[in-house]
Amino acid sequence: MKILIKNGHVIDPLTGRDGCFDVLVEKGRIQKVAESLEDAAERVIDAAGCYVMPGFIDLHVHLRDPGLEYKETLKTGGEAAARGGVTTICAMPNTKPVVDDGEKVAEVHKRAKAECPVNVIQIGAVTRGQEGVELSDIEGMARAGCHAVSEDGKSVMNASLYRKAMRIAKENGISVFAHCEDITMVEGGVMNADKNAERLGLKGITNSVEDVIAARDILLARETGVRLHLCHCSTKDSVRMIAAAKEEGLLVTGEVCPHHFILTSDDIKEDDGNYKMNPPLRSKEDVEALREGLKSGVMDVISTDHAPHSEEEKKKSIAQAAFGIVGLETSAALTYSYLVKPGFLSMMGMAEKMSYNPSKILGLSEKGSVSEGKIADVVIFHPDRTYRIDKNTFRSKGKNTPFDGFEVSGEVMYTLVDGEVVYEAVQ
Ligand SMILES: [Zn+2]
Repeated sequence: MKILIKNGHVIDPLTGRDGCFDVLVEKGRIQKVAESLEDAAERVIDAAGCYVMPGFIDLHVHLRDPGLEYKETLKTGGEAAARGGVTTICAMPNTKPVVDDGEKVAEVHKRAKAECPVNVIQIGAVTRGQEGVELSDIEGMARAGCHAVSEDGKSVMNASLYRKAMRIAKENGISVFAHCEDITMVEGGVMNADKNAERLGLKGITNSVEDVIAARDILLARETGVRLHLCHCSTKDSVRMIAAAKEEGLLVTGEVCPHHFILTSDDIKEDDGNYKMNPPLRSKEDVEALREGLKSGVMDVISTDHAPHSEEEKKKSIAQAAFGIVGLETSAALTYSYLVKPGFLSMMGMAEKMSYNPSKILGLSEKGSVSEGKIADVVIFHPDRTYRIDKNTFRSKGKNTPFDGFEVSGEVMYTLVDGEVVYEAVQ
């Protein structure tokens, strides 16, 4: 369908366009961006008052499919993404079975084309069954289009094995996405190690649990030359180490999730499983460092770590509940409300962290930009619509969020994937 988006404020990190432009979309591509376009389009979208941005690319999503469909499916996760303005999802491999060979990657890609309204890039596991013993079929998965391998959910504790994986990933031109957590140091911890954990009578997770693996992984990236992306960074020292790695010229990038740049451990007033995630909510000092890191450019990406669970799995004490919260449907509004409005990020910065930088990390040169010739994955975002987050409206099967009831600004009005409208807000 030929679609003309009129009167919107285009934000495009690739060309630097930041102003009022019309955008013509046809045959899955952006055909024209100009100050005033008249065209006999089949559909005209009036985007007055809205930002027209490249569709968000979420590097960190748990789609739970195959095998854990009671939590989420390709379809429900994709619908949640579309509602959140996310046009490409990177699906983590800790499913049942674990995605650890080329055939399994190809199978998810094939099913996603039929069942999911947005693009899915399946990420491959580093080790067979994520058991940390034997390497997975990294070459086969790279050929099937996985773009990155990750052991997300845990770290590969055997550094020698991980180093081998990094060499193979580099040879095959793909990245390693690292979940940094020294399992031997967790010691039953379920939230940040601090006074609040003591008050609640819960075991703590210290910053070192993350930091020692972040340090190790950066050293291994230096040795192997692999492109390393540190997932869901939560500590001030992660930010410092990434800054140092970049100064040295290493191919290291860092990601932050909205819950880690908004909430602190002290926001956990009572023992509520919806505040349990891994890594945990940290101190005010850590949150400030993460925000500064995003502002200065040390931290490249905002992703969600969308981790849906059933109500039973989360309606428990922090000690008993499953780790993880959902994020696809709240991340744009939370980023706008907590980073753009207070001046930590410009709209251009938001487009960079949520689309352009992820496209570069994945090597997707045809995405991450609203400019002529690019694939027409586009989000139309209204910054002034204010509302309360209501988990009951989520399209995701997961309702597990600590942000239920938060008043936010910014709503996704339209999401286009490959030039077709896949989501439209009720107006
Ligand atoms: Zn993780």
